[in-house]
Amino acid sequence: MPEHTASAPLGERVFALPDEAATEAFAAALAHAIVSRMAHTDAAHAGLHVQLSGDLGAGKTTLVRALLRALGHTGRVKSPTYALCEPYNIDTPQGVLPVYHFDLYRFADPAEWHDTGFREHFAGDALCLVEWPEKADGLLGTPDLRLWLEPVGDGRRLTTSAYTPAGLACLNSC
Ligand code: ADP
Ligand code: MG
Repeated sequence: MPEHTASAPLGERVFALPDEAATEAFAAALAHAIVSRMAHTDAAHAGLHVQLSGDLGAGKTTLVRALLRALGHTGRVKSPTYALCEPYNIDTPQGVLPVYHFDLYRFADPAEWHDTGFREHFAGDALCLVEWPEKADGLLGTPDLRLWLEPVGDGRRLTTSAYTPAGLACLNSC
């Protein structure tokens, strides 16, 4: 497992995702957990930081796309490989959820994290989804949740780790 998070997780769960339908089912469960949490969390503590690790083609963007759709986004989902960040405002039954989808693959140097000014997006009530967090080499800080995808046969194995009570609550209801 990629080890860029210093602290030990509060909880871990492994999911078999034999096909994209299984990825969509996991994403739907996670979306439900995120929206449920919005109902009883004040805006100042509503932010959620989720890191997605795994090689090129592991299925990170597929999972993000499925999550955004399950949250209620109906438009396009572009992979932010060139833009580095794609913002969304998703209408959910609990109100508007700001989402930032990052892909740091193109970072040549972790210090670029400071130059981009992305840090401010993590301070508010947004859901931040980060592909290739390793490219920022720990500058992102500890996530609420880390999702690690690996190919297994034609499908994928998803190892999920929660580092905060908020992440653990989401994981436990998946
Ligand atoms: P990444 O963002 O990690 O580089 P992508 O999400 O672009 O990877 O997905 C790469 C490929 O993996 C896509 O062709 C997608 O159809 C396939 N894929 C994603 N999830 C699964 C899954 N659970 N089982 C089988 N194939 C999958
Ligand atoms: Mg991707």
